[in-house]
Formats: sequence, structure tokens, C-alpha cells
Amino acid sequence: MVFDSALLRPMFPILAQTAYEHPLIYLDNAATTQKPLAVLDAIQTYYRTGNANVHRGAHFLSDRATSHFENARTVVAEFLKAPEQSHVIWTKGATEAINMVAYGLEHVLEKGDEILITSLEHHANLVPWQQLAFRTGARLRVVPLTSSGEWEEEFAHYFTDRTRIFAATHISNAIGCTTPLSTMLALAKQQGAFTLVDGAQAVAHYPVDVSELDCDFYVFSGHKMYGPTGIGVLYGKQHALEVLMPYQTGGEMVRHVSYQATEFNVLPFRLEAGTPNIEGAIGLAAACDFLSEQNRPALLAWEQSLANHVYTRLKKYGGIDLYSPEKNTTLVSFSVPNIHVIDLNAYLDSQGIAVRAGSHCAHPLMAQLGVTGTLRASFACYNTLEEADRFCDALFDAMEILG
Ligand code: PLP
Repeated sequence: MVFDSALLRPMFPILAQTAYEHPLIYLDNAATTQKPLAVLDAIQTYYRTGNANVHRGAHFLSDRATSHFENARTVVAEFLKAPEQSHVIWTKGATEAINMVAYGLEHVLEKGDEILITSLEHHANLVPWQQLAFRTGARLRVVPLTSSGEWEEEFAHYFTDRTRIFAATHISNAIGCTTPLSTMLALAKQQGAFTLVDGAQAVAHYPVDVSELDCDFYVFSGHKMYGPTGIGVLYGKQHALEVLMPYQTGGEMVRHVSYQATEFNVLPFRLEAGTPNIEGAIGLAAACDFLSEQNRPALLAWEQSLANHVYTRLKKYGGIDLYSPEKNTTLVSFSVPNIHVIDLNAYLDSQGIAVRAGSHCAHPLMAQLGVTGTLRASFACYNTLEEADRFCDALFDAMEILG
């Protein structure tokens, strides 16, 4: 079944504008997606009719806000196929969720233990582990990619009896490839390691089933899946969440406080200090509903067909170094020898086309690819074939002008 992105366009009013007198073409979706009316309306309705603090008030509005807020948690749990809504912890985003786990597991690490990541990681899934290793004397190890962007044939030996934590991205934000998660998670579990999957680039495209993945933690940001900024999720298995030491303390996460001691609350509240991002949670639930209402396989096939179309045109044109896999990706990452990606980006911007140029918060991966940065065009549900073609045409014009 062909997905009709044109039907979705009216739901995204921001797209109906011009940039420098050109129709705006938004291909920076891996950085953040645009928001459908359903999300905008949910947030506005909350502030117009339901704003109150949650959990602690005993009045009409507070009860209603609490029930909307906790219902949002249930929606997200169902979206992820999590067994319990209490396994969903609200965070500011993927970065905060990873930091919560990195701080929360500090007490289980000993000098010489190993934290294993992959060479595809965004800095958000690298720096917190590196800093944790510095604090504890653990060793940060990296499962590498070969220079052609393929996984090493044999990566099992990176998983040792010292591996205490394995953290991997689901999909690379920089080059778009998917990690062989099931094999890697199984290897990590054989060693008794805690496992974390960074789903920041996956949730907008793939239906995620955390129960099937069977990882201890799964994290993502709302803003990359049509939800608001400032809200994200740490999903965790019950026992894994219980091991975490709260990374922040204060109100909401406590059951009883005296000057001598504090009794922490039960999950999920134990890991949620302070007044939460109520409208963010409600907006994120609306984004989950928006995605769930789509034909997900057809949507994914559409996004992949756009990326594949661009990949094929760029390859055919020649003189372009492509870093993404040819198939099964929703973005295309590339550079042009002797033309700086920032200059290409500036030309595309002048034509109203938004892409991303730079290191994509993945310095070690860029170093491994032998570049300082790439240009990335990333697709979402509302992108059209015409936009993909206009992007290619403008890129080729830029190469003529700047080359
Ligand atoms: N992980 C990946 C793979 C990402 O692409 C990003 C953002 O680009 C992050 C983590 C961090 O997300 P946030 O900045 O929303 O916390």
C-alpha cells in the first residue's frame, strides 16, 4: 500500500510557508520533527481548560490534570508495548534519560568493569558513559564499524564477563544504519550486563516493542517523533529501574521526609523529582496517538522510498561520497569532496531547503569516516517525492556553482 503523505500535509501548518520566497522544504527531521495539529491542540487544550499541578492537589482541576498526565503515561506504555505504565519514567529527553541511567548505575560498577557502546553513538550515548567510567575506574569499550560502514563480522568477543553495561543506538542519527540489536542484546545478556537502547532515531519510524527487544532500558525524545520538546522517556524493566539510584531528589519522588532520613516513593515517581512537564507528557501522548493512527509499515516504506530515491539520484550523479546504507534507511548522509558541507548547506538554505550539515554530535564516528562532517537529509511522514527531487536538483546546482 502506498502511503499518501499529501493527506498529512494539512495537519502540519508550519510546512505551508515560504523561506526566502521558496516553498519551505523541511528535511531536518532527524534533528527534530514538526508537530501535527493534534499535538498543538492537546497542549493548548491542557492550558486552556486543565492546567493545575499534578498528584498533590485535591481539587477538580488538579484531579483532572493528574488523570490526563497519568493517562499519557499509559498511552506511551502501550505505544512501546511496555507491560506496566509504571515502567515509563518521564524525562526531558533521550539525553537526560541516559544520564539518569549512567548516574543511577554508578553504585553497581567496580574498577575494571567494562561499559560497552558502539562506534555509531550520538554523544548523548557516549559522554555519560565515558564520564561514568572516569568516576568509577570502569573501562569504556567500543564495538567498531569497518570503514565501509559494515559491522565487523565477529563482534562477540567485545562482550566479556566484565561487561556490566551495554548501550547502543537503535538507529544511527549520523548515517542512518540500524544496529544488529537482537544479536548484541543477547550477547550482553549472556554476560549479565545491563542493556540500554537509544531509540531517539527509531520511534518515529519503527513500531517499537520493548518487551520483544527485551532490553533493560529504552530511551527516546518526544520532539523527534512529532511530540513537543522538553519531554522524553526512560522505559525500564521493573528490576532495572529499581536498581537505579535517583539522579535527582526533591519533591514528588518521596514518600516521607524527616531531617534524619527520606523514604523514597515507589516507581515511577521515585525517579521523577519535582513538578513534571505535564503539558509535554500530554503532547507526547497525542504524538503517540498520531503515529498509532498511521499505517506504520506503509509509512516506513514511504520514508525509506524517499531516502532510497535520493540515494539513487546522488549515486547516479556521481562525485558524492555516500555514508548511509543504500536501503532500509530514512536518511541520506553524504559529503562532496572539495566542497565544504557548510557551503552546500548555505546554498540549500537559500533555496528554502532545510537539511543538517556537521558532525551530528558524533565526532568519533566522523573521525572514523575520515570527514569533519556530512550533509544529512532526513525524511518524515509529511515529505513528498517532489521535495526529494527538489532537494537533489538544488544540490546538483550547488555542486555546479561551488565545485
Ligand atoms: N540519541 C540520538 C541517536 C540522537 O539522534 C539524539 C539527538 O539528535 C539524541 C540521542 C539526543 O536527543 P535529545 O537531544 O533530544 O536529548
